[in-house]
Order: sequence, then structure tokens, then C-alpha cells
Amino acid sequence: MRPVICEKCGVLCEERCPVCGSSRHLRPEKPDEPAHLITLNTMQAMLVEPVLQDTGVPYFKRGSVGAALTAQWGMMREVFRFFVPVSGRERCREAIEDVFGEDETIMRLLHEFD
Ligand SMILES: [Zn+2]
Repeated sequence: MRPVICEKCGVLCEERCPVCGSSRHLRPEKPDEPAHLITLNTMQAMLVEPVLQDTGVPYFKRGSVGAALTAQWGMMREVFRFFVPVSGRERCREAIEDVFGEDETIMRLLHEFD
């Protein structure tokens, strides 16, 4: 398996991006570029983010709902996509598995695109 990344979504995959369903944006990954780690709602993000911070791996998150919608739906409906460098992704996954290995929901989300 040769890992590739979808330039549009930042998701690591093999043949087809599981998010946009396309293979047009795929190219070989680079170790320092951001890759999708996990998508979480506000509550889950509050639990997982400290674990991520503990790894020391730089990360950023993107909310998928705009500010206007957030106000309308309430904070709890917002989802965050977390991105980490390709080179630190495995470490972050292990850290999350260590802490949330018993949490079926978090584990399902962590392996969403595997
Ligand atoms: Zn994509």
C-alpha cells in the first residue's frame, strides 16, 4: 500500500478519498503536511483535545459549521475536524487509543476512514 492524501480533504487513503469520493485530488503524502486525524463534535473535542495537546504534536482544528449556524443550532451541533502532520499522526492515534480505547464512539471515529 502506498499512502496517498486527498489534497482537497487532507484525508489519507489508498485509491479513493472517502470524504469527497474522488480520486482526482490524490497524490503521495509528504511527512510535514497536515492530514485528517479525527472528526469530533464539541463534547468529544473537549475530551480528546487535552490528550492531543499532551502528545506535543502540533495540530489544528476546523469547525465545519459557520458562526451563524453555530448560534442557531447551538454549540453542540458543531463538528471539528482535527489535522496533524502526517509524521505525527500515528503517535496521536496511539495516544487517543490509550485513553479512549474503551470508548466505542471515539474509536469508531478514529478509524472512520481506515
Ligand atoms: Zn477528498
